Amino acid sequence: HADTAMYGAKEAGRSNYLFFVPEMNVRVFERLVLESALRRAIERDELTLHYQPQVSVADGRLVGCEALVRWQHPDMGQVLPGQFIPVAEDSGLIVPLGEWVLRQACRQQVTWAGAGLGWLVVAVNISALQFRRADFTQQVVAILRETGAAPQRIELEITESALMQPTDALHERLLELGRLGLKLALDDFGTGYSSLSYLKRLPISRLKIDRSFIMDLPGDHEDAAVASATLSLARDLGLDVVAEGVEHAEQLAWLHARGCDSVQGFLFSRPLPVAEFETWAARHAAAPATPGKS
Ligand code: C2E
Ligand code: MG
Ligand code: MG
Ligand code: MG
Repeated sequence: HADTAMYGAKEAGRSNYLFFVPEMNVRVFERLVLESALRRAIERDELTLHYQPQVSVADGRLVGCEALVRWQHPDMGQVLPGQFIPVAEDSGLIVPLGEWVLRQACRQQVTWAGAGLGWLVVAVNISALQFRRADFTQQVVAILRETGAAPQRIELEITESALMQPTDALHERLLELGRLGLKLALDDFGTGYSSLSYLKRLPISRLKIDRSFIMDLPGDHEDAAVASATLSLARDLGLDVVAEGVEHAEQLAWLHARGCDSVQGFLFSRPLPVAEFETWAARHAAAPATPGKS
């Protein structure tokens, strides 16, 4: 656990006064340590991307992947995004971090295109803060130009909450990104209480149903209702749907029966380092993916 690792570090020895300070201050301290470590991590190349396969429900073919950032800290070990993305957002570090992730994913797309995987769509998470910056589109254009990535094979995942009540400027930004040829997906769908009516006006091509609605399928009636409604809404609006966090064959069968296009989850594979992803892709180019057998 990273918390423990950090308290065990030189900065906070056993006799340290930090043991006695109120919880709040410890958290502040912890955040500062994490923030400066993260700042160094971006400079020192301690970040890597792992890629999680996305598989077509109809025929088990690999169709795309999601790039997920990983931080290998020399002392703390692997720090997961759930721990450092919020810190990156609070400190503004998400901007250089997000830029690094997009550039790295675009380079990977180019490398894969040269290795016969030119059809593979690479999805990249874009933080709300990053997306809302006035120079975001320019940043994307510059990275596409610099790397030579095919915009049609890059998907930007923007969270539903980032697009709640989109201003005209944000709406225009989405249109612009779409005109560049990029794919746009709404991440963590179902968690944001967004008005459904705006969906039909947004230039997005996919919805990603949040894992929290998939987790307890098919037993949980409320979750089933949300997932079901999302799938039929998407069908009526002509949008693709990806279900996140599919771990069991029963969930897959349930989603299959309701016309879900693709799935991503441990049932097929965890996020993988590049070399392992390539091995996985090579195996599944020859034969469709079989649930549970990675
Ligand atoms: P997300 O974009 O919704 O990504 C999906 C998360 O679900 C990933 O966690 C993935 O490992 C996990 N997952 C996928 N399938 C399963 C499953 O079957 N079971 C379970 N239990 N989990 C599954 P991860 O990699 O820890 O990332 C967490 C979140 O951190 C992401 O959620 C995303 O919001 C954020 N994140 C990750 N990488 C980046 C990045 O490069 N930029 C930004 N802005 N955010 C990122
Ligand atoms: Mg995502
Ligand atoms: Mg998500
Ligand atoms: Mg539930």
